[in-house]
Formats: sequence, structure tokens, C-alpha cells
Amino acid sequence: MGTAGRKRKRGGGVYSSGTSDTTCAEATTTSTTTTSTTEPTLTKTIRPKKPRRQPAAPKTTNPKTKKQKPAAPEHEPIDPPPNWERMYTLTREMRNKTPAPVDTMGCEMVANNEPDPRNRRFQTLIALMLSSQTKDTVTAPTIWNMQKNMPGGFTLETILSLPAPTLHTYINKVGFHNTKTTHIKSTATLLKTRFASDIPDSIPALMSLPGVGPKMAYLAMSACWGRDEGIGVDVHVHRITNLWGWHVTKTPEETRKKLQAWLPRGLWHDVNNLLVGFGQSVCLPVGRRCGVCRLAVEGLCPGAVGGGRSGMGGKGEDGDGDWDGDDDYGVGELEKKEKREKREKKEKKEKKEKKEKEEDGEARVKLEDIPPHTTTAVPDIEDLGRSPSLPARSTRRRSKRP
Ligand code: SF4
Repeated sequence: MGTAGRKRKRGGGVYSSGTSDTTCAEATTTSTTTTSTTEPTLTKTIRPKKPRRQPAAPKTTNPKTKKQKPAAPEHEPIDPPPNWERMYTLTREMRNKTPAPVDTMGCEMVANNEPDPRNRRFQTLIALMLSSQTKDTVTAPTIWNMQKNMPGGFTLETILSLPAPTLHTYINKVGFHNTKTTHIKSTATLLKTRFASDIPDSIPALMSLPGVGPKMAYLAMSACWGRDEGIGVDVHVHRITNLWGWHVTKTPEETRKKLQAWLPRGLWHDVNNLLVGFGQSVCLPVGRRCGVCRLAVEGLCPGAVGGGRSGMGGKGEDGDGDWDGDDDYGVGELEKKEKREKREKKEKKEKKEKKEKEEDGEARVKLEDIPPHTTTAVPDIEDLGRSPSLPARSTRRRSKRP
């Protein structure tokens, strides 16, 4: 018996319900016709309840089954900066001769030994999350420790089963470890419930995970799914491209859009590794080594410091124009300069402290020179009229409470 039929029966069995398969509308019409002469008319129409809408998960696509359309450009195409190809080539040459931490400890590398592709993707995403505000030399050992020591292995299931405080003990060396513990636990739950226990394969879906921003999403997309849908712009890429005068931008996101407007798509994956490693080895955030940088030699970098070409001549530069990047960067001179500056700063500080001490001493001497009668305490008003044998109230020792 259908819903309409059941409802009518419950209503007192007055109305004929028609056949059990009759729709509500038909049932209503039939009832009305049948009872028009003998029974009161049925005026209420019974409507089936609408199913409640479920919140939709961000769309994901399987790259094996569906070919993706290239994303619409986020920025109007712009002319490439002059000499960019020469700058890129020189930097690549310097990088090829000079290993940097990112080459062996970058987030793309740390999960390379994991045989299960799903686990590899998961570990890469977690490495990216841990790497925020943390050096590669700290992130990589953290991941290796998790791979080696987590009971049951470093998998999504293990992260889900571990209590947050236990997870925290594994990641407490990285920056912002408390927040990251929370983010990783929430991410693991979301991956299980919304993404079939795997990493989503779309940028919006990746960015819907807690703690995952555009940089991580584009890097994860590239490392986990082999699709370069955007450039992963971190602080090195942002800083160095601005030093090079390629653009003037305030945020990494702005830099990403500018770069994507002209840099050939084939370099979108490489440019991150290139500039992160360059920022770790030559163009350091503090004390950049322009004296040994080939871009300074050729006068290509507007951000060069220390006179650029005149700063050449260290061990890394043998004068033939070729970069001997596998030695110590020719930093001898630079380090000497840094040491000298430090020493000078220290001496200056010591001089200042000495001067302050002397001035302080002079002031004390002056106070001691004051004749004793002028420093005698004036008695309290309450002490006036007390026996001279008693000490003044203000100078009496008060007994301490136990
Ligand atoms: S010249 Fe100096 S500022 Fe320019 S890229 Fe080289 S190290 Fe960096």
C-alpha cells in the first residue's frame, strides 16, 4: 500500500484510497470523484517530502579518465622581462653545479621511497604542510622519523588513529607545531570522509583542506599528480624575482599571477626548485653572495649589492667567466667582511656600555659628595613630640610576618 493510502486509513478510513500504486495526485482526484455524492470533499493534497540537500564536496577529477582543460589565465598576458632567458640559464648553471638542501630534502623528495602511490601522495602533502615556516633540514628528518617510527607506518590510517598529543611528539621540531597538529588531524579526517582516503586532484579541493594555501596546492598538484596548473611561489621565488626586477609585487600570490602571465608553462615546475635552491645557496635572504653570482658578473641583476662586478674574485670565480660553483662559493672575502662588521659592532656596543657605566659612576660620586646633614630624613609628623631616645617611626625596622 502506498503512502497516500496509508494516510487516508489513519485519517479514519472514510476515504477510498484507490489502488496501492496510485500517485498522490491521482489518489486525490479519485477520492474527490468517488465521494462527491456521499462523503465530504477531500481538499488537502498530500505532497511527498523533498529530500534534504547534501553539501557538495569540491569537484575532483580523475586524470586517467578525464582530460583536463587548461585553466583560464588569471592575468592578462604580459611581455617577458628583458634578458630573462639569459638570467634563467645562468641561474640553472649555477644551481646544477651547486647542490642545495631542497635537492635532497625538498617535499617532493622525502616520500620518494614509499612504494604505495597513495601513501606517497599523502606523505608529500603532509611534508608540504610541515614545511611552512620551517627549513628543509628540519622538515625532512621529521618526515623520515615518522616513516621509520610510526606504528603501522606513515599512512592516513595511522594519522587518523593517533591521538593529537602523540602526533605532536613526532612533529614538535617544526615551526607552529601546535597548529599543524590540529590541521593534520582535520585534514586526515576530511581526506577519509570527502576524498576517498586520497589526495584530491583539483586546486579548489586541495585549498579546502585546513592549512593548505595556493603555494602548497600548486606544489602538491605538481608533485602528487604531475599536473602543473600553477607556479608554487614561496618566499624565495617571491623575493628573488623581485630582486631581479621582473615585477614589483607585495605578496607571493601576486607574484604567481605575474609570472604565470609570461613564463612558459614548461618551466612552471622547474622555477620553484631553481629559485628555492638558489635562495638557499647563493642569493641568501640575509647576506646574499652577489660577489660570486654570475648575474652580478654580467650586470644582469638590479638587486646586486657590493658593487656587483667589482665584488668578484673569490675562490668560486677563476676569471675565465665560468662558474666554479662546486667549491665554497668564494666566500672567503665575504665572510671576512661579515666578521669585521660583527667585530666593529661589538666594539661599538662595548664602548657605549663603558661610557654609560662611567657616567653612572660620576653621578654616584656626586651623590656621595653631598654632606650628611642634608641627607638626614625629615621625621614623620607622627614622630614629632616622641621621646628623642626612640628612633623615628620612619627608620624603625618592622618585624616580618612569618
Ligand atoms: S646578484 Fe646578488 S641579488 Fe642578484 S641574484 Fe645574484 S646573489 Fe641575488
